Amino acid sequence: MNLIFLGAPGAGKGTQSTVVAEKMNIPHISTGDIFRYNIKNQTELGKKANEYISKGELVPDELTVSIVTDRLMQDDCKNGFALDGFPRTIPQAEALEKFLAEHGKKIDNALNIQVDENILVERLSNRRFCPKCNGTFHMIENKLTEEICPVCGAELKQRDDDKEEVILQRLQEYHKSTEPLIDFYRSRNVLTDVPPIIGMEKAIAATLKVLGIE
Ligand code: AMP
Repeated sequence: MNLIFLGAPGAGKGTQSTVVAEKMNIPHISTGDIFRYNIKNQTELGKKANEYISKGELVPDELTVSIVTDRLMQDDCKNGFALDGFPRTIPQAEALEKFLAEHGKKIDNALNIQVDENILVERLSNRRFCPKCNGTFHMIENKLTEEICPVCGAELKQRDDDKEEVILQRLQEYHKSTEPLIDFYRSRNVLTDVPPIIGMEKAIAATLKVLGIE
């Protein structure tokens, strides 16, 4: 199945799409992860992308689209994929649609992970990641009293773009550029709303149910 995960920053698309991809045995493709990997390794792409990401802005469409289409050409995508954080603009969605059509494919389901807007800032500013095992944690939800990874014991870090001033810019970008994708995919009859549910486990269960996997 070819899947897209839509939703505001902090809606939980990363966690949800990772679980779904594992269950369906399809690759999880996150443009944010690809950019962060390149930033960490100081590649040319990383340097360019960081100019935008550090300010909470979107990386230009042309650059982002070429990264995703290159990735989708790889063999492991032939039975499906879960796109997390892409597309984020109408031009990206149109480029993806064109690319897939040229390869005899289409999006089967665009899951719109809905979330109560007032919890987003709290959720993003309390988010931490582990640079060693790559886990993502929430200081309050995971009841962490110190910034130490509960899985492997490494020191947890905060994403630069999870600092409050950048979060607000990212949310503005979402409303301006990404939210219109909800109607774009609704008009293609592939949109499925996943209503806001408190607690990540229950939210994941709701998504799996929508997709008919349990
Ligand atoms: P994420 O991990 O999905 O929250 O992405 C982190 C940041 O990477 C975003 O705030 C954007 O600056 C950039 N980014 C990720 N995906 C895209 C995309 N599809 N188009 C443009 N910028 C993106």
